[in-house]
Amino acid sequence: MDVMLGAHVSIAGGLNNACLNAKATSSNAIQIFTKNQLQWHAKELDQNEVEKFKNCIAEKKIKTVSHLSYLVNLGSTDELVLKNSIDCFIDEIKRCHRLNINLIVFHPGSNKFLPERKTIKRISDNLNYIISSTSSFSEIMLVIETTSGQGSQIGSKIEQIAKIINLVEYKNRIGVCIDTCHIFAAGYDIIQKEGYDKFLSLFNNVIGLNRLKVIHLNDSLKPLGSNVDRHASIGRGYIGLDAFRLIINDKRLKDVLFIVETPGGNSEHKSDIELLRSLLVK
Ligand SMILES: [Zn+2]
Ligand SMILES: [Zn+2]
Repeated sequence: MDVMLGAHVSIAGGLNNACLNAKATSSNAIQIFTKNQLQWHAKELDQNEVEKFKNCIAEKKIKTVSHLSYLVNLGSTDELVLKNSIDCFIDEIKRCHRLNINLIVFHPGSNKFLPERKTIKRISDNLNYIISSTSSFSEIMLVIETTSGQGSQIGSKIEQIAKIINLVEYKNRIGVCIDTCHIFAAGYDIIQKEGYDKFLSLFNNVIGLNRLKVIHLNDSLKPLGSNVDRHASIGRGYIGLDAFRLIINDKRLKDVLFIVETPGGNSEHKSDIELLRSLLVK
């Protein structure tokens, strides 16, 4: 069985480097930030750079997903943060359209002043606005990532993500990303087969496996239920290799992109990816 597996790679020095970094990390799938993830605004993409990136990705048959800026918070009640978040999201959809990227992973959001139910409603309302404002880019799916549940973050319970989706009008534009470190920190014990199968059937019953587009494969530096988001290299954290062996060989996940966001650069990612590939049952 072949899998779509790779790393979150850097675009430092130009977008085309992401494609070169795919090779350096033995990736056939990559995740990128299309701009500096810690800034609201970015200069427009250079057409020459766009062409080079698209050609390289197409030639090497690399599946690509974008990760939205960490600054975006669709649950915010701060007017400026919310305006910037929405503008940034819509801009990212347009950038991804030019780059032939169909999936944008994002963290749902948080609000420490509102009850959970109201934050969820805000997130869904803002998603509805973003989706209806980008109807001409309907090929692009907005992919909600599970979170570790730090502070007032939404997304550490599968049911919260299901509630967001239920309130979104154009559900065909919504996907989900599971981050193994985040769900483990949120309290889902996937270390052994029984717990893993229980989690996956919960996901299937509450959200539906058809919505699962991306899995971030990260081990966890912190123990089960810590609510702390600290990624570890594969097999070097509290999750351990058995869980990754189950995930990567799971036929129910054959259309999912697997991305490592583990510590280190290309060489560490290459070892993580080779380790994961070695777990594949031929
Ligand atoms: Zn992640
Ligand atoms: Zn994380």
